[in-house]
Amino acid sequence: KSLEEKLKGATGGANSIAVILLNIDGFHNYNDAFGHSIGDAILMNVAAVIQEQAGPQAFTARVGGDEFAMIINDNETGELTERALARIQSAFYQPLKFLDLELHLTISAGTTLLPRDSNSVSDAMRHVDLAINMAKKLGPGRTMSFRLEMDDRVKSETDMSQGLRMAIDNKELQVHYQPQYHMTSGKVVGFEALLRWKHPTLGFVSPGIFIPLAEKSGSIVAIGDWVMEESCRQAKSWIDTSTSRRSIAVNVSPAQILQSGFVRKVGAVLARTQLPPDLLCLELTESLFLGRTLASVRVILEDLHNLGVTLALDDFGTGYSSLAYLSQLPFDKLKIDRSFVSSVHDSPRRLEILKAIIVMAHSLGMEIVAEGAETEQEILLLQNLSADQVQGYGIARPSTAEAALLTANRLEAVAEGHRSDAMAHLA
Ligand code: C2E
Ligand code: MG
Ligand code: MG
Repeated sequence: KSLEEKLKGATGGANSIAVILLNIDGFHNYNDAFGHSIGDAILMNVAAVIQEQAGPQAFTARVGGDEFAMIINDNETGELTERALARIQSAFYQPLKFLDLELHLTISAGTTLLPRDSNSVSDAMRHVDLAINMAKKLGPGRTMSFRLEMDDRVKSETDMSQGLRMAIDNKELQVHYQPQYHMTSGKVVGFEALLRWKHPTLGFVSPGIFIPLAEKSGSIVAIGDWVMEESCRQAKSWIDTSTSRRSIAVNVSPAQILQSGFVRKVGAVLARTQLPPDLLCLELTESLFLGRTLASVRVILEDLHNLGVTLALDDFGTGYSSLAYLSQLPFDKLKIDRSFVSSVHDSPRRLEILKAIIVMAHSLGMEIVAEGAETEQEILLLQNLSADQVQGYGIARPSTAEAALLTANRLEAVAEGHRSDAMAHLA
């Protein structure tokens, strides 16, 4: 822990920070052969040599049985680290002498450099572990510096980012639709468009995984454009072939909105697909506000509003939202996050918060969409709290356009049936 704290403190100033792990090769053999008190004496002696050779700019610590860590304020090439390690390893060319022993020890080392290899402490710790494991595999007394290829996670992320870039052209993307059910009317008033990626070898990859990657690599803009066009086209064809006027909700990432010309782009999609603007709902998350002034966000949202589209604040209750945002931004809908809805029965406090959110949103003129209601109990509770719409597995799962339409019609028929039963009962 103290090492991590040190590292957190260190990343502020110097231009690079090296994190180094050192391990005594075959230490357990000495421990087994000479006993623990000699083992401890070896550790003390090794620690002293490391400390002495590491130099004054290094911070050293013992972090495990026979493992030591160092942190060095270095330059981008890591040359101070390289020299320190060379000194340490050559110090052990001489046998370690103490009591009447002469031990020939070797030290393995792994290194990683921040910010070159990562910019978080937790990634650096993982990287340096990978590096020393690689060094140990090469044999005793070796040093390895972390390389990106060592990290499977990075490898699969890069593979995925590349695959994602081609996903549109390769027709691997598909939009699924989840009904949004209006409680008092029993109507499916809209669908949320949820992107699906069928990767050629990995199968279905969850948007929870690939959307953040697409955001990081920038491909979210092209992908988001595609989703918007496809969803609006689908929504328009539903209107043309039925009597219901159902809206379509499309998730939009901050990177898309903040791109210049986004408002014009949305206008162009509406014009091309001929979808009435009030039937397009853009779902935005609270991350849009991160690092931006309220005023700058408000300008964009008002421009969007002027097109006639509606705006929903998604995942409410998970992020950074302050109530101030809600009263000052032109949101039409508030989507309460699943984590709120699903834990409400466990906690009276949560229930009170949920009630308050609904009352507040209504008094600000916003509609409530409760996400992720899975059980009948949850749906009934939401109904009692006057949530306007519910979207969740308890109503319907997301599915292909064809299946979603059938589900929506069936849901309405069931509600209609209940209604006429009730009427018959009254008569
Ligand atoms: P979201 O916008 O909050 O979407 C709701 C997520 O909750 C969807 O997950 C949906 O399948 C899931 N869900 C709905 N009802 C239930 C329920 O009763 N129980 C449970 N456990 N889950 C439920 P999905 O489709 O995996 O999408 C995850 C997230 O990925 C979305 O969260 C959204 O933030 C993002 N996403 C999906 N499609 C797009 C897209 O086209 N563009 C962007 N920018 N983001 C997208
Ligand atoms: Mg959403
Ligand atoms: Mg959500």
